[in-house]
Amino acid sequence: MQQFGSDNYSGICPEVLNALIESNSGSAVAYGNDEYTHKISEKIREIFECDCEVFFVFNGTAANSLSLASLCQSYHSVICHEVAHIETDECGAPEFASNGSKLLLASGENGKLNPTSIEELATKRTDIHYPKPKVVSITQSNEVGVVYSVKEIKAIKKVADKFNLKIHMDGARFANALVTLGCTPAQMTWKAGVDVLSFGGTKNGMAFGEAVVFFKKELAEDFEYRVKQAGQLASKMRFISAQWLGLLENDVWLKNAQNANEMATYFAKGVENIDGVHLMFPVDANEVFIKLIPEIEVELKRKGWIFHAFIGGSNRFVFSWDSTKRRVDELIKDIKEIA
Ligand SMILES: *Cc1c(COP(=O)(O)O)cnc(C)c1O
Repeated sequence: MQQFGSDNYSGICPEVLNALIESNSGSAVAYGNDEYTHKISEKIREIFECDCEVFFVFNGTAANSLSLASLCQSYHSVICHEVAHIETDECGAPEFASNGSKLLLASGENGKLNPTSIEELATKRTDIHYPKPKVVSITQSNEVGVVYSVKEIKAIKKVADKFNLKIHMDGARFANALVTLGCTPAQMTWKAGVDVLSFGGTKNGMAFGEAVVFFKKELAEDFEYRVKQAGQLASKMRFISAQWLGLLENDVWLKNAQNANEMATYFAKGVENIDGVHLMFPVDANEVFIKLIPEIEVELKRKGWIFHAFIGGSNRFVFSWDSTKRRVDELIKDIKEIA
């Protein structure tokens, strides 16, 4: 039965699976020197309209941790939101990978950083006894399903420049945000000031294999060594690259994200007026956070629905490329009946 516990409950989308099967013929050069990897790297440069450096790792934790580590020395710090995945869900991997760069946590409405909160942390201490702020990390779409506008990213860039901070974007749900904004990948990243992107494919329809995209070549220096040392270099790289080709060709990634976003909005509209259900954050992308009275929560779980307690006493429902209206209707119906 389809569940909405997370978008990584979904399987591999057909286009990606086909690309994977097609790539499984004959031999290919190992460690990324194969034709699939060359082709997808070019495709990503084309999509971002930028001569960027592209790398692949197995998951999002590695993409975030290694890219942050490449921007920081061990005595630096990273400004992020207090609910950021790098803070709450990566078991200290960013600090581990960077040999100790500290995360500095800011609060901010709807899970977003803003120029004021960044400036506060950047100026809080300037003495040698405190780790020097070096990076701002933002998540797009973010941990509570909210999307930064291009204008908001540009405002963050402005304050980042003031304090000489680089910008990292955790794009585990990059496609979902892109579809919401309807802008180009370039506009949402380097044109707005993003230096490095963790580009998520897994939640969007792949089995695994996130990309790291450096928009400034000099920041990518020796990154391949970092990837290898961290045990993140796939020897049969073609199977990550082929998946990405299946996802990015013919705009499959956007179609997948579109479905996920539409199902989230449909679910939110279906439950927002039910007594005992309270929508906690704007539904900008593919995640819906609702506060349920305990009676509804317990009964819904008893009926077999899987969902997770999240930030601020909320329950999180996440939709993916494969979410069907029929199954969302069943969930809405069950919540209505219990209420
Ligand atoms: C899922 C997710 C990641 C990646 O998590 P992994 O389990 O390491 O692949 C990164 N950032 C955010 C915001 C996520 O939701």
